[in-house]
Amino acid sequence: MCDSDITVWGRTVNEYITVCPVCREGAMKVRIAIHNVPNIGDILMESRKCSKCGYSHTYTTPMEVREGTRIIFRVEGEDDLRVKIVRSPFAILRIPELGLEIKPGPLATMFITNIEGIIERAKEIGQTYLTLATDKNEYNSSKRFIEKVEELKKNMRFTIIIEDPYGLSDILALKDEQRKRIKKEVIK
Ligand SMILES: [Zn+2]
Repeated sequence: MCDSDITVWGRTVNEYITVCPVCREGAMKVRIAIHNVPNIGDILMESRKCSKCGYSHTYTTPMEVREGTRIIFRVEGEDDLRVKIVRSPFAILRIPELGLEIKPGPLATMFITNIEGIIERAKEIGQTYLTLATDKNEYNSSKRFIEKVEELKKNMRFTIIIEDPYGLSDILALKDEQRKRIKKEVIK
């Protein structure tokens, strides 16, 4: 490997042209690259792009596979605002008290924030829904959601659940007392 193989897209290991599943033209470029992501390690990324119809798709798989984990943290006070959340691009984050589920994003990046950041994110999601509301019902349910987030921030009693099929995510606390409230389970 020489330096020119290393790009922002990772180190290319294979590249070829094949038939596009959408337009059936032999114009689809497949590129397989290894991408190094902090806290995760190497990720195998396969990107497919058709130059005829524009169809494109990217698959990512971590090369170092661990057991799937579910991490549950019970938030009990303002002191927990700074507890760190490390979410891999494969993990789902849930706050059952809000009925909120944040699904994995399309970007293969680690998402590092804290409890405060998660609350802010929940509020942003509510604001987005409010802006996009097309009828009274959607508007009212978005308003209720934002109120619930505000109430949750005031009371600081809720649950954070992270489910990661590759076990790459984590919740990091400084104090022993907080660590005791972090539960980890293996999932299939
Ligand atoms: Zn095509």
